[in-house]
Amino acid sequence: MSFTLAIVGRPNVGKSTLFNRLVGKRLALVDDQPGVTRDLREGAARLGDLRFTVIDTAGLEEATDDSLQGRMRRLTERAVDMADACLFLIDGRAGVTPVDEVFAELLRRRGTQVILGVNKAEGRVGESGVLEAYGLGLGEPLALSAEHGEGMAELAVMLAPLI
Ligand code: GDP
Ligand code: MG
Repeated sequence: MSFTLAIVGRPNVGKSTLFNRLVGKRLALVDDQPGVTRDLREGAARLGDLRFTVIDTAGLEEATDDSLQGRMRRLTERAVDMADACLFLIDGRAGVTPVDEVFAELLRRRGTQVILGVNKAEGRVGESGVLEAYGLGLGEPLALSAEHGEGMAELAVMLAPLI
C-alpha cells in the first residue's frame, strides 16, 4: 500500500492548487463510498523522486457558513483516517484565522502526523504568516507557493523520511 498524504485546511487556502501540482493529470477517483468521490479526490502524486497517494478535501466550497464547520470536521476526519500523514495548509497572506485554529485543534486531538504548510508565501509576502503559524503548535511551518511551485523541494525533504 502506498503512503497517503491528505491535504487539509479551510476553503481557499490552495489545497486543490497544490493537489493539481502534485498529481498533474494522474487524477484517479478510487473511493467507492457514496459521497466520498465528490468530496475527497485521490490522485497519484509525484514530487522529485517520491511517489505517493494524495487526497484533496474538496466539497467544502458549496457549504453554507452554517454547515461549513461540521462539514469540514467530518470531511477532514475522514481524510485523516485514510491518510498516513496530513499536510495542513493555511494562507500566509491571510495569516492564522479562527477557522485555522479549529483545524489545528482537530488535528492535534486526532494525533495524526502533521506537516504545516503556509501557502501563498511566494516572494516573501507570506513571511508574517509563517511567524504566526508557529503559534499553532504544530511544529515548524513550511513556506510554500502551490501556484508558483516554491517550497516543493523542502516539502520533499520533510516527506521523504515518512514514506
Ligand atoms: P482550496 O479551496 O483550498 O482548494 O483552494 P484553491 O486551490 O481552490 O485556491 C484558492 C485560490 O487561491 C485560487 O484563486 C488560487 O489561484 C489561489 N492560490 C492557490 N495557491 C496559491 C499560491 O501559492 N499563491 C497565491 N498567490 N495564490 C494561490
Ligand atoms: Mg479545493
